[in-house]
Amino acid sequence: MAEEEKKAAGETKSVKGAWDVKYRWTFRQDLMDRYVAGLKEKKLWGTKCHRCGRVYVPPKDICGKCFEEIDENWVEVKDRAELVTYTVGYTSITGQPYPEPQITGTVRFEGSDSWALGPIRGLKPEDIKVGMKLKVVWREETKGQLSDIEHYAPAE
Ligand SMILES: [Zn+2]
Repeated sequence: MAEEEKKAAGETKSVKGAWDVKYRWTFRQDLMDRYVAGLKEKKLWGTKCHRCGRVYVPPKDICGKCFEEIDENWVEVKDRAELVTYTVGYTSITGQPYPEPQITGTVRFEGSDSWALGPIRGLKPEDIKVGMKLKVVWREETKGQLSDIEHYAPAE
């Protein structure tokens, strides 16, 4: 890193130590099975927290805000989304230039409070804006897989 870059990034500080953090992570395959079954029908299903009302797409069994168990409180959301953030790739992981820039975005489906990640097509990097409206572009023949959401594109 050049000296100017180091100055711009600021000094890195470190603290030696250890944290004894215990956590439990659960993954409910049955919720994901229902989610991908919905994708086959070109429908987006999420779960809604009974306590705070947050909607998670893809579904979660425990609310990340209030830690309430959600217990299969299913809600359908629209296949339209708002762009939360994005990144633009110009080369592959091996350094080969892409024929055109690849945009990957984090989106929030309308009616949902959580985010999902996926490719965005139909836009040039200079035209993309955080907050813009996108639509899901479904795979022509859905299969009940996460890839049934082929990509996101600007909503008309
Ligand atoms: Zn909640």
